[in-house]
Formats: sequence, C-alpha cells, structure tokens
Amino acid sequence: MSDMPTVLPERATHQQTRTFNQQLVLRALHDDSPLSRADLARLTGLTRTSVSDLVGRLIHEGLIEEVGRGRSSGGKSPILLRVAPEGRLLIGLDLGDEQFSGAVVNLRGHILRSVQLPLEGRDGDAAVELVFKLVDALRADDPSPLLGIGIGAPGVIDTRAGIVRWSVNLDWADLRLGPIVEERYGVPVVVANDSHAAALAELTFHRRPRPKNLIVIKVGRGIGAGIIVNGTLFQGDGYGAGEFGHVSLGHDQTPCRCGRAGCLETRTSMRALVDAARATEPAITDDTRLVAAFTTGIAGVRRIVLDAARELGLAVGWLISVLNIRHVLLVGPVVALGEDWLGEVRRSARSSVLGLMARDTQIEFGQVHDDVVVLGASALLMERQLGLGLAR
Ligand SMILES: [Zn+2]
Repeated sequence: MSDMPTVLPERATHQQTRTFNQQLVLRALHDDSPLSRADLARLTGLTRTSVSDLVGRLIHEGLIEEVGRGRSSGGKSPILLRVAPEGRLLIGLDLGDEQFSGAVVNLRGHILRSVQLPLEGRDGDAAVELVFKLVDALRADDPSPLLGIGIGAPGVIDTRAGIVRWSVNLDWADLRLGPIVEERYGVPVVVANDSHAAALAELTFHRRPRPKNLIVIKVGRGIGAGIIVNGTLFQGDGYGAGEFGHVSLGHDQTPCRCGRAGCLETRTSMRALVDAARATEPAITDDTRLVAAFTTGIAGVRRIVLDAARELGLAVGWLISVLNIRHVLLVGPVVALGEDWLGEVRRSARSSVLGLMARDTQIEFGQVHDDVVVLGASALLMERQLGLGLAR
C-alpha cells in the first residue's frame, strides 16, 4: 500500500535510514502531540542526539514546530513539539455521483476551505475537465506548500498506478487519472476507491486507539466497503475488495447500473430507498424527504427502510463471518436515518453470524461524516508522501 518502508532494509543506505527515522519521529508526533525530544527518543528508540538532529531538520522543513514548554521532571522544563498543522496543505477530492467536492486540508485533517461543483450528468472527458476546474478553484492563488492531491472516486481503482479501471457512473475505463492530474499540476497525486478512502479517514483521523482491523461500509447512492487488515488498506488482487454492493441476491430482477440485476445496491442503497418510497409516497424525491418521512414515522416508508436495513444486515453478517473483524462502521448519507435504521442492521447482522462472533462485534456509525472521502483521500496522500497516518 505505502511507498514508505515499514521495516528498514538490512543494508539500508544512509539516506534510507534517515528517511525512515524521520518518519518515526513524524509519526510519533502525529499520533500523540505534543512531545518533548526526550519523549521522542523514548517512543522511537532513537538516541537523543539523532532525535535532536532529525527534529532540527523537520523544523527547518516546516513540518514540525515548537509549542511551548512542558512540565519539568527535575531540570529545565522541556520544549514541546508537534506536527505543524499547516506545514503542508493537501487537496482532497470526492468525485461523487451528483457533485464533485473538494477541500484544502491541513496535516491534522482540518478542512480550511471547500468547493462543490454539480456533475450535471457529465461523464468521460467532460468529467475529467470538471476535476481540473475543481482543483483550479481550490488552489486559487494560495502560495502555501502543497503536499499533493488525493482523489476518491467510485469504482475499481488501481491505487498504486492511479488508474481508474472501471467507474460506471463516470463512464471511465482504464483512465490514467492520477498521472493526468499529476502532469497538469506538478504535485504527487493518489487515487482511491471512495469506500476505501472512507475507511482510511476513519482509521486516520478519528479513532483512538486505532484498531488493527476495521470494516467501513459506505452507504449512499451506492454501497461499498473499505477493509483495513493489520493497519493497512486491503484492496484485493484486483483492487475490488469490498465492492459487495454488486453481490447479486438472485431473487430480484431490478436492473443495476452495473449492467446486471438484483444487486444488494439496487435494494438497500439510499437511492434504492428513495425509489421504493416514492412508489408509495410520490412526494419523496430525495434523501432529505426520505429521512423526514422515516423519522416522522410514515408506516409504509418505515417498513421499506427497515426491510432494507435487515437485508443489508445479512450482507454485513457475511463480511463479519468471512473476516472476523470486530469493528464495523457505517458511513455516508445513510447516517441520517439514525439509530432505528442502525439498530435493525445490527440485529440482522448479529443474528446471521455465530453467537461468539456476534457478541464480540461492534457495529456503529462512523465519526467522520460529510467529508469522509475528501479526508480519506488526504489521509492516503499523507501516508504516501510522509509515512503518516496509518496504524502499524
Ligand atoms: Zn450491480
């Protein structure tokens, strides 16, 4: 996943050793700020001299900064350090179904400004042009040092090469999106599936302590999962891991946008719920109206939503049974349906797996909401460029 070495090669060059040690220091500060130089030596196992040398370089590069003094344990009170939040800025993009959103993000995952552009049916080259327009709007005349651009998009994406293998909604096939954007802006670019990005956002910015293993299921117009195994995003042999929204359930012939029929997504996604609810309540034309009808207790709508929650819960049960991962988070627009919906998914998932696994598994809403893909794409970029972010 990462280009950064997680283990130092046996015959490392001087440069490799320094880069590796620099990441140890940066990661310690990213995970647990503020820290003194002595804390860093203790946490990284490096000597005090090496730590001072590395800290000096990182301050010079603007990546870390001093933030006052800590409590003395005898002698002089130590100077505390942290990652400089705006030492580098990142651009994160979420190429959604109805709009492309982007944000300028700092190294702590805080959004400094954001821009949304409606997709209005664009696909193919026109959708690529919209990506450029979005990045141009975000960059404006900002002279701050840019670490790079992280892009989350629906579909099967070769993250290592930055190639969108297949994205049905955007009509992209084998599109070299990463290299194209990199060439235009002259900064590093990473591209990931939107559900994979969502998993990285939950892992990186909002969970302490970080679980080693995690399933993040994004339910919006589509459904997909990001799977973290041993602190690393698991993408499968062909980058399609977690695309379980297109598991065909076999008992339904509703056509899916993937070209097949009866996929989980055609029955349990937000889009599917709006379509099904509209058939009984014509005024329900979007997510907001669906959520309002569900929460005010319109009987027909409640039945549609909770039936779908049970069906999704069974699929979540398969994931839990196959992977035995104890932390499952649900994210995306579906969060607006609240605890009643989540409770039904949870009951159904738990009832479909072995009792022992059901007891040990937590199924919750994620903590990162609207900007989960933007932040996840940024997290991937931080991991690639600085070795920051993911669990080890
Ligand atoms: Zn499908």
